[in-house]
Amino acid sequence: MNYEVTRKCTDCGLEIKASLTKREAAFHLFDTKELFGSICPKCAGKEFSGSGSLPLLDKELILEWAQNENLYFSQDEELMLGDGGYFELIIEGLNNSLTLLDKKYVLLDALCIIIFDETLDRGDGWKPDISLKQRAIEELNKRKDLLIQAGDRIIGYVQKVVYPQLDINWHSEK
Ligand SMILES: [Zn+2]
Repeated sequence: MNYEVTRKCTDCGLEIKASLTKREAAFHLFDTKELFGSICPKCAGKEFSGSGSLPLLDKELILEWAQNENLYFSQDEELMLGDGGYFELIIEGLNNSLTLLDKKYVLLDALCIIIFDETLDRGDGWKPDISLKQRAIEELNKRKDLLIQAGDRIIGYVQKVVYPQLDINWHSEK
């Protein structure tokens, strides 16, 4: 399957599309200037807005990401992983001995975000997924040492909500 990136000229509105592979789309491995040129072919404008489709992450992408320090999904990849229904893949990444330490911290952060999301009442008849939350808590408790080592790599406001629910000694006023 192919993915697309679109660049729109903010002066004349001309849109140009290019197709990307799954890897290029997932890891932003493309340069819009190389793909589209640095000026609009219609009006020679230089201001653009862009949009693209992000592939769903799969095992292949997460494995490659976990072992390569130069690959990123996004600036908020822990949120993306935590919100995306990737629980099993997060655990696989954590269990894989080839996963880089830095990436393990991101995966732990994603587990914390799952717990965070299932903790705060969103109103409107929303019901938490208690079993998912419980599994995430168990997986974090198994990895307490690594979690403590991660320190501030785990988002602060997430720590405040999640850590009191874990089997660790943690105080918000350090
Ligand atoms: Zn233009």
